[in-house]
Amino acid sequence: MKTIGLIGGMSWESTAEYYRLLNEFTRDRLGGLHSARCVLYSVDFAEIEQLQVQNRWTEAGEILAAAAQALEAAGAEMILICTNTMHKVADQVGAAVSVPLLHLADATAQAVRASGLHRVGLLGTAFTMEQDFYRGRLEEGGLAVHIPDADGRALVHHVIYDELCRGIVREESRAAYQKVITDLVAAGAEGIILGCTEIELLIGPEDSPVPIFPTARLHAAAAVQAALPTD
Ligand code: GLU
Repeated sequence: MKTIGLIGGMSWESTAEYYRLLNEFTRDRLGGLHSARCVLYSVDFAEIEQLQVQNRWTEAGEILAAAAQALEAAGAEMILICTNTMHKVADQVGAAVSVPLLHLADATAQAVRASGLHRVGLLGTAFTMEQDFYRGRLEEGGLAVHIPDADGRALVHHVIYDELCRGIVREESRAAYQKVITDLVAAGAEGIILGCTEIELLIGPEDSPVPIFPTARLHAAAAVQAALPTD
């Protein structure tokens, strides 16, 4: 079993979920008392969020690159950045280590393709929905990507930072997300990517008329797949 290195804390609400999922998937594959061999470097999210809003991505990337190097020194044989948004600096982080970086958008695109779908709606932070680093990577992966309108994007972004990253899960926000999802489906989306690792704390398959693609779960599954020898 390979050792999985996690750059987490963005937010810790979803990193806790990664830890649980890695262990569940490993137990499901190996049975008994087996659990995931992993190392976690958890950052202070307040510091990262400030760099995001000030558009200081290279400095944020330096923090994550140092975290990746610490993980490699601690024995990690692959690196996961446990947030979609911070994949904006994935190249900078990947270049700092000699072990592979398991890219979240690639794991997601692969899961969508495996389901036979092509046209998806993308929910995430404004950075993830509006900029090219993530959408472009999904499109390179063969997907057609729809995003919500400006009001929908503002709502989705606000709920992530002001509620989900603080451990707040509100019924009103679930209903508001359901409306955004319905609009994306009306615009042609055949599936919905929950492209922020906290959204799956709010939205499940029952909240969407089309399949959902929860990125923390997909990323953790891809990591366990890469960590364990093939059957
Ligand atoms: N965890 C979130 C994501 O997957 C948002 C937090 C962040 O800005 O990193 O994008």
